Amino acid sequence: MQANETETPPVVSNFLRDIVQDDLASGKHKSIVTRFPPEPNGYLHLGHAKSICINFGMAEEFGGRCHLRFDDTNPAKEEQEFIDSIQRDVKWLGFDWGDNLYHASDYFEQLYSWAEHLIKSGDAYVDDQTVDEMRTSRGTLTEPGKNSPFRDRSVAESLDLFARMRAGEFLPGTRVLRAKIDMTAGNINLRDPALYRIVHAEHPRTGDKWKIYPTYDFAHGQSDALEHITHSICTLEFEDHRPLYEWLLAHLPVPAKPRQYEFARLNMTYTILSKRHLTQFVRDKHVAGWDDPRMPTIAGMRRRGIPPEALKDFVKRAGVARANSVVDIAMFDACVREYLNKSAPRYMAVLKPLKVVIENYPEGSGEELECVNNPEDPAAGSRKVPFSRELYIEQDDFMENPPKKFFRLSPGQEVRLRYAYFITCREAIKNAAGEVIELRCTYDPATRGGNAPDGRKVKATMHWVSAAHAKTAEVRIYNPLFTRPDPGADGNPVDDLNPASLEVIKEAYLEPALVTDDIKGTIQFERLGYFCRDTDPGLIFNRTIGLRDTYAKAK
Ligand code: ATP
Ligand code: MG
Repeated sequence: MQANETETPPVVSNFLRDIVQDDLASGKHKSIVTRFPPEPNGYLHLGHAKSICINFGMAEEFGGRCHLRFDDTNPAKEEQEFIDSIQRDVKWLGFDWGDNLYHASDYFEQLYSWAEHLIKSGDAYVDDQTVDEMRTSRGTLTEPGKNSPFRDRSVAESLDLFARMRAGEFLPGTRVLRAKIDMTAGNINLRDPALYRIVHAEHPRTGDKWKIYPTYDFAHGQSDALEHITHSICTLEFEDHRPLYEWLLAHLPVPAKPRQYEFARLNMTYTILSKRHLTQFVRDKHVAGWDDPRMPTIAGMRRRGIPPEALKDFVKRAGVARANSVVDIAMFDACVREYLNKSAPRYMAVLKPLKVVIENYPEGSGEELECVNNPEDPAAGSRKVPFSRELYIEQDDFMENPPKKFFRLSPGQEVRLRYAYFITCREAIKNAAGEVIELRCTYDPATRGGNAPDGRKVKATMHWVSAAHAKTAEVRIYNPLFTRPDPGADGNPVDDLNPASLEVIKEAYLEPALVTDDIKGTIQFERLGYFCRDTDPGLIFNRTIGLRDTYAKAK
């Protein structure tokens, strides 16, 4: 199948590109600076890949730069393992932050003095209310909030208490620093939002130096300003935070005034893109880890054999918009198949073996047959595959009493063994239980290479592996992690996990080149799908994806 225009829609512009283009054309910015700001509290997932492609992609396209900034303001949940995995994943996607690796924690001292600045200018105060009191006095969407009794305490007292919060004199939850904005604001984010909380936890970078940590809202915009970010691109849930983002920039002596823009997060059918839930799957061992090939994490997809190019192509085609939507997983699969169809070399493997004995093939002899490596890519060349009297074919390729349209092997039926010969089934041998355990066949020596000189046709071509030369491997077949397109719609997505998401085949048979060739990347097992070597020790292959859309069938 050739890639054509209907399969590959042209990549269209999007509103973020338009904004950047306009800002460059108008001279508002000479060059753009974006950032990708992950919190290191889990592995990156497909949604993050979208954010990475937007931020790094636009910087690349417009000759700007993109920073990788760890939003490490919550030491209770952050770990070095996550910091390392995030860097590995961004690089694997093909992006480079160069020297621009930053951490919000780099700015803790600066953020602290800016917090003091707000207190001194009457724009922040230390609040002694309990968490519950603060929650009730915040009001609701329909009711205004109420001022804290500590709101009008003196600047000197707030400064003193804030310094003592930093020194670790108070227990977590007993005090917070709040911006003094407006408890009656329609936007709840402006009702005196918290800027600093007391947290007594070991930070991966600053250790136990800090007893207070800035909130996301206080750290984020100020970090953007310190790094001279021009376009601070985030997902729509931060839209209501934008007035606070701008309020803080307006009330602080920051060196730059970045602008925040929001886009709709990526959602996909049969997929959960939420670190909170993915963390739960890992912690409760519903999957084998963050890089389990069933996980929608970048690490999981890499281990499953999804090429980074296919992933980026998918993100591009999913587009960038401000309206929330859910992308059909079939589109993701189509991008992966399209890429692999062009790039993946073909091999033969039998997953559910049925023995075939070719009775008229001389015993003890064998030969090597020329097999094309990739019909989509003549440059991929060919290889030699051993053929002999005893072979394995796929159990599914034989039926003793076939229905009308079954053209594969059945008693009396002639088929082609790919790149080899025409064979005809003469007899099916059964065990005591009546199961077919072996087929006796004959071959036509004149059909070597897979074509009959007399021009006669067969309706089926099947893959095979020579029994004497076969290598035994474990093959892991991954099915969707969820049983429904909208996991979690009725509650917890854990309840929608697919009990059959992993199928392990202990004894699959491979042609020997799959072991001797230095197999890199994802390959095709002819007629079965795309596979790659797993990172576990031993000869283990993961199925990346089948050849056909199985979701369409499910519908
Ligand atoms: P999650 O919602 O999975 O917990 P998060 O938003 O808390 O993710 P962060 O580490 O804060 O994770 O995200 C880093 C960046 O990735 C943010 O700018 C965020 O907006 C973006 N991002 C997260 N999820 C998605 C998504 N599904 N689609 C697009 N961008 C996303
Ligand atoms: Mg977040």
